Amino acid sequence: MQSGVKTVSYGSGRITGKLVGKWLAACGLVLSGAVSSAETPSDETITPEQWDGCVVRLQQEALDKGIPSDIVQGPLAGIQYVPKVIELDRRQPEFTTTFSSYITRRVDHRRVARGRKMLREHRELLNQLVKEYGIPAQYLVAFWGLETNYGSYLGKMPTLDSLATLACDQRRSRFFTAQLMEALKLLQVPGVEHPMRGSWAGAVGHTQFMPTAYLKYAIDGDGDGKKDLWGSIPDALTSAANFLNNLGWQRDLRWGREVQLPDGFDFTLLGFKQKRSLKQWRAMGLRTATGAELADLDLPASVLLPAGYRGPAFLVYHNFDVIMGWNRSVYYALSVGHLADRINGAGKLQRSPPKDLKRLSIAQVKELQTRLNAMGYDTGNPDGILGPATRTAISAFQQSREMVADGYPRSSVFEALEIEL
Ligand code: CA
Repeated sequence: MQSGVKTVSYGSGRITGKLVGKWLAACGLVLSGAVSSAETPSDETITPEQWDGCVVRLQQEALDKGIPSDIVQGPLAGIQYVPKVIELDRRQPEFTTTFSSYITRRVDHRRVARGRKMLREHRELLNQLVKEYGIPAQYLVAFWGLETNYGSYLGKMPTLDSLATLACDQRRSRFFTAQLMEALKLLQVPGVEHPMRGSWAGAVGHTQFMPTAYLKYAIDGDGDGKKDLWGSIPDALTSAANFLNNLGWQRDLRWGREVQLPDGFDFTLLGFKQKRSLKQWRAMGLRTATGAELADLDLPASVLLPAGYRGPAFLVYHNFDVIMGWNRSVYYALSVGHLADRINGAGKLQRSPPKDLKRLSIAQVKELQTRLNAMGYDTGNPDGILGPATRTAISAFQQSREMVADGYPRSSVFEALEIEL
């Protein structure tokens, strides 16, 4: 989410030659001075002519979808190309984040304290939402805290411009065209005003809903006849509760918990795709983080070790999968769960993630993946991301070398694979 972004409008015939070169350079996609005219555009970007053609295509598609012509001729006709959006879309991180740095940056003392304050301030509304949708207050507050720091920053990018820019870009055109169409439909919803603003990728409001989620799950929580996820906290939190309920949140269940693993734990059982009942884990000797016995229940659960065997271990339940339905990131889901616990009065993790783990470059992880694939340990397409498949492959490799098979890409794994770090 960036503020103060300059937008460039492309009315047909208004921009030619030199200006195009400036525009391409502004995209950060061509070398300064390398482009002198519209005849030699970078492959990475689109020309003003292509943009104009794309706007016509989007207008036609909107009309075909039954979006009223005053919206097609008004807000949609006025969309502007935002080079910054493409720049942000292309900005690949250079390094993978460690769990330690991810969670300490997001679940810190200030965010916990402010979350507790929000819990008190909105107690009545939150109690009502627990009753109606079954989502405990601390989770709703945790999502709110992680998405926009409790509404402190909702994003300032013009949503239609962002979505149109991404819709006219090749990389994820279909997805963003669909989101743009939903955003245009949103303009008919009372409480939504043009121009909408939000993140560079089109998420809006206190809980950063994409247009599809807004249309489908937004609720008028304060009963004023409008669904306003920017201006109304009751609307935003009720909508989040409705969304989570629709994702399948199970009432009266936790997200998971930090646990202690027994000595000699079989690390090949790790990963959120491997589910065993709480009963079974209990029988294997897993205990809560403070050493108490786990409940003797038949709930499916998985064990995660996001920072390897020296870091905290987590047992995660069905509602963890629901959080992953909101954002498909294990670190994000663990942060929501932990922040919710902290807001609800719990202390820090019993075992803090080791701080000495080095972050790896995306290139190093890709090389690791390629090497493992070649040896028959399937990591999927080498993408530089330490997802579940890569962790499972590392674990299998570690096992074959009689190393601790926790799936963590520590330096011993790189050494064994003869990859220089
Ligand atoms: Ca409302």
